[in-house]
Amino acid sequence: AQRRSAELLEGLNPQQRAAVLHSGPPLLIVAGAGSGKTAVLTRRIAYLLAERGVTPGQVLAITFTNKAAAEMRERVIELVGPRAASMWVSTFHSSCVRILRTQSALLPGMNSNFSIYDADDSRRLLTMIGRDLELDPKKFSARMLATAISNLKNELIGPERASSDAEFEDVELPRIVARVYTEYQRRLRAANALDFDDLIGETVGLLQKHPEVAEYYRRRFRHVLVDEYQDTNHAQYVLVRELVGHGAADPSAATEAADAEAGAAAAGEAESPSARSVPPSELCVVGDADQSIYAFRGATIRNIEEFERDFPDAETILLEQNYRSTQNILTAANAVIARNTNRRDKRLWTDAGEGELITGYVADNEHDEAAFVAREIDRLVDAGAAGYSDIAVFYRTNNNSRALEEIFIRMGLPYKVVGGVRFYERKEVRDIVAYLRVLENPDDAVSLRRILNTPRRGIGDRAEACVAVHAEQRGIGFAEALRDAAAGEVALLNTRARNAIAGFVELLEQIRAAGEMDELDFPDVGAVVEAVLDRTGYRSELESSDDPQDGARLDNLNELVSVAREFSSEARNAVEAARAEGFVPEAGEGEPEPGSLAAFLERVSLVADADQIPDEGSGMVTMMTLHTAKGLEFPVVFVTGWEDGQFPHLRALGDPAELAEERRLAYVGITRARRRLYLTRAVVRSAWGQPVFNPESRFLQEVPDHLIDWQRLEPKRSSAPTQYGRRRDAESTEDDWTGGWLRGRETRPGLREGRSARVARNNVGLVLAVGDRVSDDKYGLGRVVAADGVGDMASVTIDFGSNGKIRLIPKFSQTLTK
Ligand code: ATP
Ligand code: MG
Repeated sequence: AQRRSAELLEGLNPQQRAAVLHSGPPLLIVAGAGSGKTAVLTRRIAYLLAERGVTPGQVLAITFTNKAAAEMRERVIELVGPRAASMWVSTFHSSCVRILRTQSALLPGMNSNFSIYDADDSRRLLTMIGRDLELDPKKFSARMLATAISNLKNELIGPERASSDAEFEDVELPRIVARVYTEYQRRLRAANALDFDDLIGETVGLLQKHPEVAEYYRRRFRHVLVDEYQDTNHAQYVLVRELVGHGAADPSAATEAADAEAGAAAAGEAESPSARSVPPSELCVVGDADQSIYAFRGATIRNIEEFERDFPDAETILLEQNYRSTQNILTAANAVIARNTNRRDKRLWTDAGEGELITGYVADNEHDEAAFVAREIDRLVDAGAAGYSDIAVFYRTNNNSRALEEIFIRMGLPYKVVGGVRFYERKEVRDIVAYLRVLENPDDAVSLRRILNTPRRGIGDRAEACVAVHAEQRGIGFAEALRDAAAGEVALLNTRARNAIAGFVELLEQIRAAGEMDELDFPDVGAVVEAVLDRTGYRSELESSDDPQDGARLDNLNELVSVAREFSSEARNAVEAARAEGFVPEAGEGEPEPGSLAAFLERVSLVADADQIPDEGSGMVTMMTLHTAKGLEFPVVFVTGWEDGQFPHLRALGDPAELAEERRLAYVGITRARRRLYLTRAVVRSAWGQPVFNPESRFLQEVPDHLIDWQRLEPKRSSAPTQYGRRRDAESTEDDWTGGWLRGRETRPGLREGRSARVARNNVGLVLAVGDRVSDDKYGLGRVVAADGVGDMASVTIDFGSNGKIRLIPKFSQTLTK
């Protein structure tokens, strides 16, 4: 044991070691980027298990993404062995789903099959409500209402309090929001559904209203650890406080329910009586206020700044040594973040040495910028200085990936774009997922209404409205109202619609029965998806369609079948492997059966951009937004788009708080780099189809000049307004200034020719063959993967990367160019 303990502490600096060894009062670890916060959290867990007799079941570790959770678990398993596999390491949302599924009996009107509504489902529901309440959709868009409600939920303000608060307002908006909010919650409950914010809020409510449940989890989770604490919102903070049963009485922070309870109990006591019967759990949170970049989701630095007030006996450990980056990179990051006011100054240092200078590049436009990035990557890989998967390219917003993808495809560089239009957001995939959800949760009204007439089966809007009114009048759910309609009990419904509805109800029952009858040891979700595609006629409708897009939709649905199949078979293999080793596998508490439909739906609901980040050694360059890059590190990093109006974002230019947040984003971006950092900007960038001149980002100007080796400064061109140019490098010659391609480097004119080849707007005569690279205004860059037929009606299938495979007829596509 002595030796193991030494191993677990090996290589840690004294502060890190103290953080791993700390026991007792709540612990806050604050430190700048790359100082080993996540590493310390992981070691601490390993140490708890190996040295302090803590069992894996007693640990709850919260990370910001599912992928980070998986990595942390892996790492702990490496350190202490396979018994750590059963530990709860997950995101706030996933842990809450597990708690809520286990405790669903305590959620009024809900059961454990509840659906999880994402932003799109919420907006659909809000659109219906807006219509029913006859709100002006221009004044009260679903999007705006969704944001307003989400903000309230992040503050744990329920509909009752929102309503009573709104009474005293003399403007209309809060009253409308409160009314919509009330109705929205009512309908969510009736649909046995929770939205994302509810996952947190309902868990908090559960713990506050049911002291015995809170006590159960406090007994269970003796150790709660949270990474990226700076990005928690108020609801998440209260959740942590309830889970550990520890912290200051803060009446303003309590929910309505707790307020009521606190009022009934002794005044000023926010802790429920049971909290005292279990000693508080140990809490360890790590974070960096300078990396808080989710204020738009309600995250509040306050949580980290006031930790010591929230938990009065808390201790704080500062980490100051950075193990990730070279000194030049760190100095640049420190210089930028130092411009933010009201922050605790941190002295971050490294003994990694100065390292190379940061490379700067001023591009003519976004294509030139992308070409520079691609050329550099090519050069680095050729020279053996880095592998593709060592490299990441960041940008401010998702749409910026397009120019990069264009050139990467042209040059044949392997890459993966993380985020953007996601597979599960495609219409056809959402349609089928809606069927799956209804099979799992028959009360799910939003999904039910989505598929009611998809594929078309003669149930029109009027019929849907009749059913909805009936449901409203009887105070029953939409599913029940549909059954009434099938039985002829709904007024104003004609026979055709009634028969169509009866057919639909019957169809769902058949599929459900088939699923139950076939239920094997391991349900195969792929088979369920197949059954839905076949029996609903969804597949045959697409197959018989003339619309070339429908071919691509079919491909996507086949992909869904494969994904579902794989999901079930992976679970089966895992269980069989465990059996072979003599384990009796069991679903964890609050977890659906591995490989089941419920498990599949849960994964679909909780998948996030960051979960698509390729594993190390993938052989691909990773492209993503700066937000998604949080917590990651790469040997080589390109941060593009350093222009005022781009980064900082246009929206932030006049707003000091938003500007400070953008600056933190710059700090996050720069500090992802380990050895080599590139900062690029474009003089002109197209936005909404117009070329826009953007001045150099103020953040770029904040990077000390001597740290940057400018490969190219702003070229002098008649079309570019020179006031935006800034001569940065005192030693640069007039030649550089007037813009050779690259200073001291060979130019590759072929790239420019490649770009100018994109001329054809009129596609008459556009002939494509397998392997051709094409560009489409809507789908971006792609490569032809199949060609069918000949002559004018020949069709091709094009792989548009993250936008999927699309089949189309080139002759009729106005927007496609070779
Ligand atoms: P961020 O703020 O970006 O989330 P972080 O503080 O969580 O960063 P980590 O990702 O944990 O930092 O660590 C950064 C890098 O430093 C990792 O590669 C990690 O393995 C390494 N590292 C951390 N501590 C040490 C140490 N004591 N010795 C050597 N390497 C270390
Ligand atoms: Mg980290």
